[in-house]
Amino acid sequence: MDDCACAATASGTASLASFAASELWRTGREQRHFHVADNQVAVFNPLGPVGLAVLNRPALDVLTAYRLPQPLASAASRQLAGLGFLQSVDVLPLPALAQSKTLTAWLHVTNACNLRCTYCYVNKTDETMDETTGLAAVDAIVRSATQNGFKAIKLKYAGGEATLNFRLIRLLHDYAKDQTAAHGLNLHEVILSNGVGMSTAMLDFIRGAGMRLMISLDGLDAGHDAQRVFRNGHGSARLVTRGIDRAIAQGVKPHLSITVTRHNAEGIAAVVAFALERELLFNLNFYRENDYSASHEELAAEDARLIAGVRSAFRVIEKHLPRQSLIAALVDRSSFAGPHDRPCGAGHNYLVVDHDGGIARCQMEIERTVTDIMAADPLEVIRLQPAGFQNVSVEEKEGCRECQWRYWCAGGCPLLTYRVTGRSDVKSPYCNVYQALFPELLRLEGLRLLKWAQTPLQ
Ligand code: SF4
Ligand code: SF4
Repeated sequence: MDDCACAATASGTASLASFAASELWRTGREQRHFHVADNQVAVFNPLGPVGLAVLNRPALDVLTAYRLPQPLASAASRQLAGLGFLQSVDVLPLPALAQSKTLTAWLHVTNACNLRCTYCYVNKTDETMDETTGLAAVDAIVRSATQNGFKAIKLKYAGGEATLNFRLIRLLHDYAKDQTAAHGLNLHEVILSNGVGMSTAMLDFIRGAGMRLMISLDGLDAGHDAQRVFRNGHGSARLVTRGIDRAIAQGVKPHLSITVTRHNAEGIAAVVAFALERELLFNLNFYRENDYSASHEELAAEDARLIAGVRSAFRVIEKHLPRQSLIAALVDRSSFAGPHDRPCGAGHNYLVVDHDGGIARCQMEIERTVTDIMAADPLEVIRLQPAGFQNVSVEEKEGCRECQWRYWCAGGCPLLTYRVTGRSDVKSPYCNVYQALFPELLRLEGLRLLKWAQTPLQ
């Protein structure tokens, strides 16, 4: 089966030697095919563990022959079974859901910001996290991580504009490094920035510390400038793009966070081209304003603009297929990197620490803290929080249970759904947008695999 490649390395794939000769196998349920090139078809397997593979005609013939159950009679059929595309008739197919071993914490190191973005949820003040609070926050995160069996912590230094309190970031990095080493935990760190004020010294530190840098860029000109503005109303696009190029020149490749709204949907193709030219990773997040009051017609019109905007970005990607997969981050909170039943860790493996040491479940709810850094195990309090949105499994969401995309979409942001519908156990308000884009996303990934995949089946 030459020219056959899979989208992800799956830890759950079966050993090729482990199949009983008498066992009957059949094509996995709910699989979908997408034409990607002459005699090349991308096959999507909703239950994973490998979600997507590109098969040539002989491989596809093997797969389709198993619509009638039969033993694994060839090396090709055993490989398809190992990847999960053929399933034993004796085993109830279940998704290979991964459990996160990382406790992620948002550290709100400052409430101040030099921008006034139109969609920002932070009520800006000049308050900052002080040293005592920051150190106690790291202690609390490490405490919860060890008590709950995590293997790693991930710190997201955020605000406001996190770099406005860079002195604290340096201090917390050193302390977190010591504390995680002492407790046998791995440490991952990322700074979230608007990209307008990064000095040479900051970039040198980020590179030396092995931190990741995430910068928000919503367009190259008017699209970005309509929503990411300084206090005086002037747009920040020129300064941000200049800052990104300076970071790259200093050896720091930022990850771009692109927020798609009705104001910039037409311009995101340009920012995606900008990222691809520089080989930067990026993700597309959706933001919807006025969900509480918008009429059905307004929402449908907004959906159409979002879909058109993302499609224009897909066309750019198709022309410049990157070596690295983008499948985890192109359609809002969905991820096709591996099957999962929740879109994020809120309420499960996520802490948001505000500048005073209060702890909330999500950064969008930073003003609704439910515990603080002095709690014996803040994560336990977060997990048991009964009020407000609940981050339930996609299997509990009305409208999602039977959906073919459920283990890759996971039903969308639970907080947004709760705010719009008053319920957490229903499908996302973005469902129509997701359903329109997922098939195109998989076709795009199939094309990328065809161009770059390094792991052809034998
Ligand atoms: S939100 Fe829509 S696309 Fe996503 S899992 Fe639910 S029904 Fe499927
Ligand atoms: S609840 Fe929504 S906004 Fe909060 S972390 Fe989850 S996906 Fe993100």
